[in-house]
Amino acid sequence: MSRVLAAVAWPYANGPRHIGHVSGFGVPSDVFSRYMRMAGHDVLMVSGTDEHGTPIQVQADAEGVTPRELVDRYNRVIVEDLHGLGLSYDLFTRTTTGNHYRVVQELFQGLYDNGYIIAKTTLGAISPSTGRTLPDRYIEGTCPICGYDSARGDQCDNCGNQLDPDQLIDPRSKINGETPEFVETEHFFLDLPAFADQLNAWLDTRDGWRPNVLKFSRNLIDDLQPRAITRDLEWGVPIPLDGWRGRDDKRIYVWFDAVIGYLSASIEWARRSGDPDAWRQWWQDPEAQGYYFMGKDNIVFHSVIWPSILLGYSSPEAGSLGALNLPTEVVSSEYLTMEGRKFSSSRRVVIYVRDFLERYDADALRYFIAVAGPESNDTDFTWAEFRRRNNDELVAGWGNLVNRSISMAAKNFGEIPAAGELTAEDERLLAAVRAGFDSVGRLLGKHRQKAAITEAMRIVGEVNKYFSDQAPWKLKEDKARMGTVLHVALQAVRDCNTLLTPFLPHAAQKIHGLLGGTGVHAPMPEIVEVEDLDNGRSYPVLTGDYTVGAKWEHVAIEPGTPLAAPTPVFRKLDESIVEEELARLEP
Ligand SMILES: [Zn+2]
Repeated sequence: MSRVLAAVAWPYANGPRHIGHVSGFGVPSDVFSRYMRMAGHDVLMVSGTDEHGTPIQVQADAEGVTPRELVDRYNRVIVEDLHGLGLSYDLFTRTTTGNHYRVVQELFQGLYDNGYIIAKTTLGAISPSTGRTLPDRYIEGTCPICGYDSARGDQCDNCGNQLDPDQLIDPRSKINGETPEFVETEHFFLDLPAFADQLNAWLDTRDGWRPNVLKFSRNLIDDLQPRAITRDLEWGVPIPLDGWRGRDDKRIYVWFDAVIGYLSASIEWARRSGDPDAWRQWWQDPEAQGYYFMGKDNIVFHSVIWPSILLGYSSPEAGSLGALNLPTEVVSSEYLTMEGRKFSSSRRVVIYVRDFLERYDADALRYFIAVAGPESNDTDFTWAEFRRRNNDELVAGWGNLVNRSISMAAKNFGEIPAAGELTAEDERLLAAVRAGFDSVGRLLGKHRQKAAITEAMRIVGEVNKYFSDQAPWKLKEDKARMGTVLHVALQAVRDCNTLLTPFLPHAAQKIHGLLGGTGVHAPMPEIVEVEDLDNGRSYPVLTGDYTVGAKWEHVAIEPGTPLAAPTPVFRKLDESIVEEELARLEP
């Protein structure tokens, strides 16, 4: 057993999540965490909503609300989205807590004390007509990298690159259109080049990473520059240095505070658990492992910047929290497109998680993401393919096996029948299913979820073939053999259900019940309203008790367990849903 940190990307609190978001970070991290817990590891799965930064302030301005009101709204929405998918966070919190502010400021201070944060004079924008500072969000211009004509002073939303206002071509004030004047102003920079050798040496020790992540990270290190970690902005974590603490025009840059969330959420979890030092087991024990889950646009933060922050805080002199572990692995996914197009809320090329869950089951989406999601290539979500996979694989493959084996046993025996002497075919099938704990488990441990679920469904196919070959419905005259075949089939269903539990936890719990099982098989997260630990406002978190539930192992079924006629576990989707759903998209 080992301690495993599952550090999941922090969704930005500017709107509900769409299925592209959750296919990249949400579902894969949950499948992994569920499997690791079942396999006996002590998992800490943390994340939260990322709530600072210019885009939040811009959107709040546009809606005539405060940033705080905006993030309160979307924090709640996102918590509900993730809850609906059954994502088993030990703690899903947010970045506007008192705890997070303290931890961010502590890391800033530690890096500063070690000499890795440097003050630099840069050019900041002021309005010539008023003489006042123009925050980044009020400056717009053409992106020097991709040519997009509405890039903001801190970031281009088209190519995703971070910018400085004075880099924009033809900058203009969004307030009155005037050309800003640039005057000297001071900001803090993280001295990333100072970590280049350590980062390269560390990456040399990483095996098993997806090759694209490793290659991309190495290229980034070749070209490291000091990176600004403060901005001209009012919404964010204050800078914890004398002379800066009280300023309301400068804040810590959102990306710097958000990556620290992995640590602050672990500390918050520990404080809430009653043992405030419990987080150290995942962050300071050299045997502990840390896996970070994200979409590929966030690799730089996790394979270069976050490790630099951890290195710089930990040495030469560790800060007051002590030295911190580097990531074991950065698990990045590619992009999910939709009907051949990029997701876009503004163009209505979007499927929100909440809308999806109103019409379909969470496990139908979880299945699609596992079997056809963007694990190592960009993949496309189409409604036709979603329906096909749901109907042909989930319903006709797995659901049908569950249904016909349980209903035949219920009808003919009213209970799980005992097995007589097993034939060679019976033995072969049971052994093939049991081998799945090894083959599926090994793939899950290596983040090869697509291969893992394909292997699990191949085993389901073998059980279906056994069932058809043995044709227990033809054994009315030989009730003993019929009982044996059904016993073997139900045992196989029981074990297949365990193999599929990390992917399909809702269905797995149901099937557990259909087989006469009681209690929790696949634990689920719950939404709990909590008080801020440092006298801030209360907020909802996702948390749960995941120490209960099935283990990753074969469990013998008990003959004599009463069985009732099963209700269907999965829903077949009508052909009409494809056109209905396409009609919801903008043409
Ligand atoms: Zn751009």
